[in-house]
Amino acid sequence: MEIYVPDIYQENIYKIDYEALLSRGIKFLIFDLDNTLVSINESLPREDNKNLFKKLKEFGFKICIASNSIKARVKPFHEELKVDYIYSTKKPHISKINNFIINSNFGLDEIAIIGDSMLDDVVCGNTIGITTILVDQISKIEFPLARIKRIKEHKIQKKLRDKDLFTKGRYYV
Ligand SMILES: [Mg+2]
Repeated sequence: MEIYVPDIYQENIYKIDYEALLSRGIKFLIFDLDNTLVSINESLPREDNKNLFKKLKEFGFKICIASNSIKARVKPFHEELKVDYIYSTKKPHISKINNFIINSNFGLDEIAIIGDSMLDDVVCGNTIGITTILVDQISKIEFPLARIKRIKEHKIQKKLRDKDLFTKGRYYV
């Protein structure tokens, strides 16, 4: 069950203590797109996305967006936010993100993945062996496949809560 448990859990990407991540040695942030940066109805980054990424770049972070969505959905975020991107990643499968990491010259202990899906983002990051940060989903509106996964996630979260491993809404750093 530990494969589902994130290292850090916060309400949203703006509440994450990025300076604390820096002091932990994290230098490379891999962000999920859908329901992490924006809702699925938004096709461009929000102003607050831009402001956050500007601040993170000033901190010295390398940033990449890694999404299971197709290129046409992800590319505008790469262009507007001026960060690397990987599309059709098939998270929780690790191969596409792992290849990107291998070519990045960062160590696993220098990388964090941030996303709203325990089954995709957290499992992917924990399998690779990088720091995992879960945030709550921006919106209840989801793509059909994500909706199915969310039902499974709720069942897993119930088991995790029974074992006192994770409780939705109980944030920790
Ligand atoms: Mg997502």
